[in-house]
Amino acid sequence: MIRRLLARLIPGRPARTPRVYPAALHPVRRDAIPRGARMVTEKLQEAGFKAFVVGGAVRDLLLGLTPKDFDIATDATPEQVKPLFRRAYIIGRRFRLVHVHIGAEVLEVSTFRAAQTGEDATDEHGRLLSDNVYGTQAEDAARRDFTINALYFDPASEEIWDYVGGVSDCRARRLKLIGPPTTRYREDPVRMLRAVRLAAKASLTIDPRTAAPIPKLASLMHNVPPARLFDEMQKLLLSGHATEALQGLRAHGLSRGLLPLLDVILEQPNGTRFVEVALAGTDARVRAGKPVSPAFLFATLLWREVVQQWDAAKARGERPIPALHAAMEQVLSAQAERISVPRRFEANIKEIWGLQPRFEQRAGARPQRLVEHERFRAAYDFLLLRATCGEVPEELATWWTRFQDAAPAEREAMLRPQEAPKTRRSRGRGRGRKAQEAAAIDPPDDAHPRDI
Ligand code: ATP
Ligand code: MG
Repeated sequence: MIRRLLARLIPGRPARTPRVYPAALHPVRRDAIPRGARMVTEKLQEAGFKAFVVGGAVRDLLLGLTPKDFDIATDATPEQVKPLFRRAYIIGRRFRLVHVHIGAEVLEVSTFRAAQTGEDATDEHGRLLSDNVYGTQAEDAARRDFTINALYFDPASEEIWDYVGGVSDCRARRLKLIGPPTTRYREDPVRMLRAVRLAAKASLTIDPRTAAPIPKLASLMHNVPPARLFDEMQKLLLSGHATEALQGLRAHGLSRGLLPLLDVILEQPNGTRFVEVALAGTDARVRAGKPVSPAFLFATLLWREVVQQWDAAKARGERPIPALHAAMEQVLSAQAERISVPRRFEANIKEIWGLQPRFEQRAGARPQRLVEHERFRAAYDFLLLRATCGEVPEELATWWTRFQDAAPAEREAMLRPQEAPKTRRSRGRGRGRKAQEAAAIDPPDDAHPRDI
């Protein structure tokens, strides 16, 4: 009760009634909303409920960007939403949402909710532990992160409902947290990352009051579960504006300890270039609408660290291939403590790394087998990146570029003479150490492809 009274006295509190912008006062039109989202809002409104397109989509349309997805907010509960649609599924245990399938579109419909207040709603750092109570539309606006993310567009009337001044912040291209910044970051430290990501993505200026507490509160990021951090980092790195976003992270004191190995990488002369080239390539692909692989990206971000540990192990006299695999394991497990790279990516990352030594082998049947490998494409792209950064000779990359497109006869002519005598075959079971190493890179020529 007292909290509520106090909260009301804080300046910048969201209004209870919205400022409604009619179509004449803003540029968003209903035909910018895909059919599925329009059908969902119409159906809900016909049934007597409020229904709006909300969040990132309205923001992006106002800023002249193309939205990724169109989320819908309503005062109907999930149980009231579900029967209105043929293919609707209630998902989520903690906070229940409805996924409505219309053709190929999946629309996320969420019920207005309020941020929970009270002693047991936060941990000792002020982090919100739950936000699963239904609320009014004004409360729903207030619990969102930035003013520009709290706008509601009604496709029927083409009105925008604004409780927090988001329309004027969009016009000024200003990113501003709703409510007192320190409290809002304490509630959810990921908002600091989101601020930097959104500012980079949409070329926004972070409002000084919103930016000021970030360096001081950066360490709160340690309380965020690694899986959540991974999701946000992935969004940031695959936003098409990763280069600016990383600059932003550094400028706001957020890069340290976030992607811990990135700190190390960024301090190495060659490493910086490797990451920059990789990110620039990823940004270009995203902006051109081409698919990008998170595994590839994380493989590039962590490679310098692998190389460093690998080189150190080799200098200690360890055998190259087992040393590479040990370095890979070490780097991935260090990473898992902060940003847990999901298992499904780990396997791909390891393949991309593990295939690199095989590019050095240009004799016999090995190059042919490598080209046929399931991960050849990604591993080859990775090799190109290493060549661009001077880690391997350009000549090696050019050779593989030619080899993969060459006709069989030309491929044959490109092969190098066998460099070493094939000791391993004649030795049979009692292979020497060198031969075993070679076999770890690549199985004997007569091995079945499945054995690879
Ligand atoms: P993007 O275009 O990258 O998806 P987005 O703003 O749509 O950006 P989402 O993660 O899809 O980001 O979130 C949808 C909406 O949910 C946001 O626009 C915002 O209103 C709200 N939201 C998301 N994350 C938070 C958060 N950490 N705290 C408060 N509100 C949030
Ligand atoms: Mg979104």
